[in-house]
Amino acid sequence: MAGNQEKSITVKTAAEIEIMQQANRIVAGVLSLLQKNMRSGLTTMQMDKWAEEYCRDHGAEPAFKGYRGFPGSLCISINEQVVHGIPSSKVKVREGDIVSVDFGTRYKGFYGDSAVTIPVGRISEENEKLLTVTREALERGINQVRVGNRISDISRAVQEHVEKFGFSVVRQFVGHGIGISLHEGPEVPNYVQKQASPRVLDGMVIAIEPMVNVGTHKVKVLKDGWTVITADRKPSAHFEHSVAATADGPLVLSRREGET
Ligand code: MG
Ligand code: MG
Repeated sequence: MAGNQEKSITVKTAAEIEIMQQANRIVAGVLSLLQKNMRSGLTTMQMDKWAEEYCRDHGAEPAFKGYRGFPGSLCISINEQVVHGIPSSKVKVREGDIVSVDFGTRYKGFYGDSAVTIPVGRISEENEKLLTVTREALERGINQVRVGNRISDISRAVQEHVEKFGFSVVRQFVGHGIGISLHEGPEVPNYVQKQASPRVLDGMVIAIEPMVNVGTHKVKVLKDGWTVITADRKPSAHFEHSVAATADGPLVLSRREGET
């Protein structure tokens, strides 16, 4: 889930980061499960049920369920939907769709948060490119999570990579610090802002989450109050990892097994 509110910045101890790694491993397990089982005809409600079940079976709570009234455990956003899509028993994914799934857990008082966009069967070349570029942009952002850097170094790495391929980054929603709250400071925008940006601190944990559009960066929210779609209805992709800044460099807490 992406934030859009200013919150205070905290740093975590090594022991707290260890707990956050456990919270994020459960998130990664859910996303891997969805990647493995994604197929045409699957309802988004079925995916939500699998996610919640896996999460509770592993001793965690689904973080998004009830968050400001969000009805699902999983945010599922298909094609032109950017983020925060609501699971439904009436919506089935189809061959050629790109399905962004965003999941969060609460475990031993700490949050985990990660997202991936999954293709259903064969997808268009343009969508293939969109997924590759968004995934790469996330990795470039992660590589800037170095003590002494500024958050804007992350933003710049993401933005430059995305725009090199003619795609655009969403501005209305941003990444965020994460810890004992789902959304903490600092904000982690996917574009460079004019104002001064905070330093990356040892022990800071942030969720970096590029939301990348084929067309305009502009988005709007549907009448359900949640689902964010692109203003031009062109496709959008979303990849997210929770990352700790350590003296040894970035530590990706939500890495999935076998992720490339
Ligand atoms: Mg998320
Ligand atoms: Mg997030």
